[in-house]
Amino acid sequence: MSDSKAEAWLAQHPEIDSIFACVCDLNGGMRGKRVPLDQISKVVEGGLRMPLSIVGMDIWGEDIENSKLVFETGDSDGLCDFTGRALVPITWTSRPTALAMLWMRQEDGTPFPGDPRRALARVAEQYRARGLTPVIATELEFYLVDPSGDMPQAPKSPVTGKRLNSDGALSLDELQHFDEFLNDVYDTCELQGIPADTAISENGAGQFEVNMRHIADPLRAADDAVLFKRLVRGIARKHGFAATFMAKPYGHLSGSGFHAHFSLIDKNGVNVFDDGSDQGARLMRNAVAGMLATMQENTLTFAPHENSYRRLLPGAHAPINVAWGYENRTAAIRIPGGDPKARRIEHRVAGADANPYLALSSILGGALIGIENDMQPAAPISGDAYAMKLENLPLDWATAIDAFRKGGHVPNIFSRRLQTMMVECKTQELRKFARHVTGLEYDSYLEIV
Ligand code: GLU
Ligand code: MG
Ligand code: MG
Repeated sequence: MSDSKAEAWLAQHPEIDSIFACVCDLNGGMRGKRVPLDQISKVVEGGLRMPLSIVGMDIWGEDIENSKLVFETGDSDGLCDFTGRALVPITWTSRPTALAMLWMRQEDGTPFPGDPRRALARVAEQYRARGLTPVIATELEFYLVDPSGDMPQAPKSPVTGKRLNSDGALSLDELQHFDEFLNDVYDTCELQGIPADTAISENGAGQFEVNMRHIADPLRAADDAVLFKRLVRGIARKHGFAATFMAKPYGHLSGSGFHAHFSLIDKNGVNVFDDGSDQGARLMRNAVAGMLATMQENTLTFAPHENSYRRLLPGAHAPINVAWGYENRTAAIRIPGGDPKARRIEHRVAGADANPYLALSSILGGALIGIENDMQPAAPISGDAYAMKLENLPLDWATAIDAFRKGGHVPNIFSRRLQTMMVECKTQELRKFARHVTGLEYDSYLEIV
């Protein structure tokens, strides 16, 4: 967005008097500053500076101890540039404002390789160089919770006033009871240019899912997901709830996933995964093979938190092993049925808590490795993947961090800088969790053993 375009945009939004200028960190959170409107040209012209290290902070916003990025550089600043997404109106703050979505450049002008949005831009560029464009549609699951107690619990229905206690998969009643919230979500999506498609009530009490339309722009698909998560949390608060994209907020209910549907079009807009057959083209199987080959080492980007691993359990429609299948929701990769023209891959590993830029980088980067090397996948499975002896995904955080650190394919997808930052960040978080004695331990042992 140029200075004049930003001015034109602001002229259309006279109610806005400040801007939140933010970059996305490794955990998918936005970090930045509130900037008064008279400083807008600084933001537009790339004159805003913030420490590069904010991208790699841990989930609590702490610097990474002993990180070279923080200390060897004297914690130097980066320059923040507008992304193509530019200014996005925000409605749930006390006054209307706008979010400026930025990404980071180093002092010498080169892109900051630790910025997660840069990682996805790099992968998208590799596709472009081959004359291909990924077409992406994401599915975002989340829970509405009642935030009034110490622990989150299912919300009360705004219609009956009763707390939800039953499973709500595709329940029309649950959708309708929460329609004021959903109306607000859809209106805001429209305002922010987010292509929200269908909504359903999902399995868990208070769990919903909103699907996005397919778009031929992976960066925009990831921007949309990041913005969507923020707006759902903001609007839920406005309606007296909280919304969570934690992968598994309740141990006994289904988790929340971030499924990504993915096909590839050539320069003529033709879907190259479709060869008219029900099996899908060779190129699609190459992509599947690459995703499977890189899945274990990339699991950290799909399941980045301690809590993520509670979701990857048998029997909850979340994957536990490295497998693909046609019309199979127990497999990590599902090839949906239907018209061959819409032949696509559904990648089901990421939790709703994943950073959309990193998860999509892993998916698309893995597929590209399969395509470049003409890789062939093992046979597709049919039936219950949970009951099969297959290679497991890393089923705990420490194993996933180690796999990402050692992964042979990781440097082909991510910059070394991002790989190191991610490992440092996740290791620091893991240590904190490991030292924390839980309430359940006190309940179980304190005056008992
Ligand atoms: N909630 C499931 C998950 O954790 C996915 C359910 C579905 O197939 O939509 O990924
Ligand atoms: Mg779902
Ligand atoms: Mg799905």
